[in-house]
Amino acid sequence: MKMLEDRIREEGRILPGPVLKVSSFLNHQIDPDLMMELGKEIAARFSADSVTKILTIESSGIAIALAAGAAMHVPVLFAKKHRSSNVSGDLYQTVVHSYTHGTDYTVVVEREYLSADDRVLLVDDFLANGKAIEGLLALIHQAGADAVGAGIAIEKGFQEGGKLLRENGLRVESLAVVEKMDDSGIAFRAD
Ligand code: 5GP
Repeated sequence: MKMLEDRIREEGRILPGPVLKVSSFLNHQIDPDLMMELGKEIAARFSADSVTKILTIESSGIAIALAAGAAMHVPVLFAKKHRSSNVSGDLYQTVVHSYTHGTDYTVVVEREYLSADDRVLLVDDFLANGKAIEGLLALIHQAGADAVGAGIAIEKGFQEGGKLLRENGLRVESLAVVEKMDDSGIAFRAD
């Protein structure tokens, strides 16, 4: 999506990790107009899939998930992060490895908000090694719900997550796929 690629080119910073920092419009400060456009594009790509719910992970997935949910008129559920794995109650829960912090954390969703009838669209800001999406898939499986696919703002195509998820049969739609990012600049996969 050209609009997103242009913003990444203009404002993206490359940090060790490698981490693409887009804090001026996505991860810290949020550009609501851009977010709504990204949400509409995700909604259009999954318009034929009878989505009943969007699932994301706090915190940076919430803005784009909300935009997609507004365009699709479905509820947006976000998995909450817990420091302790000792979470009790009526919850679905799993452990996710954080790409940006390098640590494991538990994510939970209350059972009453996810059921076997749901057709769930996963949404996140970034796709790197796929651990966040795998964690969300685990929650969906615990609920007996169906995953219709994943809508991602920025996929780092040089990391393995997108390939692994697609090989496992998940439909992954990324609005911008970064093929390379280094001192010479940022290159995107052609649509
Ligand atoms: P994965 O679980 O696919 O390895 O990483 C995806 C998660 O890590 C996303 O939810 C996102 O918050 C974070 N992440 C991964 N790579 C980047 C990156 O290059 N930039 C930023 N800002 N976040 C990233």
